[in-house]
Amino acid sequence: MVVALTRPTRITISQAAVTHNTQIVRDATHAKMIFLALKANAYGFGLIEMGHAAVNAGVDGIGVAVLDEALALREAGIEVPIMIMGLVPARYAQIMAENNIMATISDLTWLQTAKQHLAGTHPLLINVGVDTGMGRIGVRSREQLIELIDYLAQNQKWFTYQGIMTHFSEADSLDNDYFHYQLANWHALTDGLPMPPMVHMANSGAAMYHADEIPTEVVRVGTVLYGVEPSRGEVLPDDYLKPVLGLESELVFVKQMPANVGISYSHKYYTHEGEWIGTVPIGYGDGISRTLQGFEVLVNGQKAPIVGQIAMDQLMVSLPSEMPVGTKVTFIGKNGALENTLEAFSTHAGLAPWVITTSLQERIKRELID
Ligand SMILES: *Cc1c(COP(=O)(O)O)cnc(C)c1O
Repeated sequence: MVVALTRPTRITISQAAVTHNTQIVRDATHAKMIFLALKANAYGFGLIEMGHAAVNAGVDGIGVAVLDEALALREAGIEVPIMIMGLVPARYAQIMAENNIMATISDLTWLQTAKQHLAGTHPLLINVGVDTGMGRIGVRSREQLIELIDYLAQNQKWFTYQGIMTHFSEADSLDNDYFHYQLANWHALTDGLPMPPMVHMANSGAAMYHADEIPTEVVRVGTVLYGVEPSRGEVLPDDYLKPVLGLESELVFVKQMPANVGISYSHKYYTHEGEWIGTVPIGYGDGISRTLQGFEVLVNGQKAPIVGQIAMDQLMVSLPSEMPVGTKVTFIGKNGALENTLEAFSTHAGLAPWVITTSLQERIKRELID
């Protein structure tokens, strides 16, 4: 993947916002360990940039989905605890053990296979997944859980029983019934069993809306630390969380048009007399959904709609007046007195915020600011 360092299109990561949001989570949960979910290239924000921002902000650990993400963070010099929240094939157990990376498991077979691949030099940190109603990964019965915990106790040369977790499928919902159903399952499955040092179940929704009902000494959050309210602005006060991500570019070409000229592929837009059209070097090849046609970007503190079909590497905007090449174009973030939020951007696109951000290609450079 080539990163376009010379193109004036960039994603900005606000360190100040990450630090602010970390403090919000700390205050809301009194967590001793905040794990930040950095999976999928840090929700598309940029794995290494967000990894450094997280450590600078005092985040205590990092959660990823796959081993390669964990190893990339270790290679970048990030030394905080890392847990892999998805399942890694057991044959990679020794690599995880050597790099002090915690593996999540769902069954005994995984442990038995992993043991054959472990050298016994470093015990592998184990996080036991419990499925209380997400239906994704994790142990589903108390008997299997007891068996697993026994096995860990008998194989301490190979494994360290470090964590146990579950995951809520509706913690961000304003209807709490399913949350409470899962929590009751958790108690039925785990009450009275030996617990490891880390007992964790709070994603952002659970951390922000249910902190008084569940253990929150260890939390695993993504959404809130990225500055987005789990239930999309329905509960928390405005400006409580600070947006972390900015997306901006520059005008690379500006021209004044006569009336009725078609713009871009398939001529989905025709100019009016004297209209100023600016070209911006970003397109669907960067992850800008074509459904963003009509979205108003910000230039010079004013709104400018995206006009015509969005091309792979470029798109056009209708400018309120003549503006010089090099003028900043803000897709997400502040420009003058105006601000485009990620939520507004994704609402216009008709997609969830994380569907948008995880589509932002690695070609776009990421820069840590503030
Ligand atoms: C992604 C993820 C999280 C964080 O979820 P948010 O809702 O973004 O806070 C927590 N736990 C697991 C297992 C995850 O996969």
